Amino acid sequence: MSKPKVATVWLEACAGCHMSFLDIDERIINLLDLVEITATPITDFKEFPEVTVGVIEGALGNEEEVHLAKEMRKKCKILIAWGDCAVFGGINCMRNFAKVEDVLKEGYINTVSTVNPKGILPGEDIPKLLPHAIPVDYEVKVDVYVPGCPPDADTIYYVFEEILQGRIPKVPVDMMRYD
Ligand code: SF4
Repeated sequence: MSKPKVATVWLEACAGCHMSFLDIDERIINLLDLVEITATPITDFKEFPEVTVGVIEGALGNEEEVHLAKEMRKKCKILIAWGDCAVFGGINCMRNFAKVEDVLKEGYINTVSTVNPKGILPGEDIPKLLPHAIPVDYEVKVDVYVPGCPPDADTIYYVFEEILQGRIPKVPVDMMRYD
């Protein structure tokens, strides 16, 4: 029997949730006996494959990220929002208090480390920022929420174990970490 497939994607995020996934350490070998990991941030799939489980790390902050979240939703049976950025918007939402034009000026012109004497701002070839950074479920239906910044490795493993037992996990309160 073929193994259930898993795909993960890194949207507006720091990759810390994927790092926490790697912190399951040798249990990843057990997991690889049970699932096939397909698209991830370190693979080069041009399109998401059809999978059983899709995992999104990160908030939605630009049009490309909304597109990727919708594609992942279409291609997976169970969609997991992984980490506070995906679940709540996370630290990305700090920019929601400013106008998009001011955010771009701050990032591309005003920061001390930036050298941009002509004040060039991103053009049409860069995905357009949304007015606000938003949680994943503002755009697509999420089946499993795994909060934490990042979620603990044990919590991530627990979520996979539950899904492999045929259950849609609800992360117990004592497994939610915010440190
Ligand atoms: S939830 Fe925390 S660790 Fe995960 S991507 Fe966001 S900032 Fe990084």
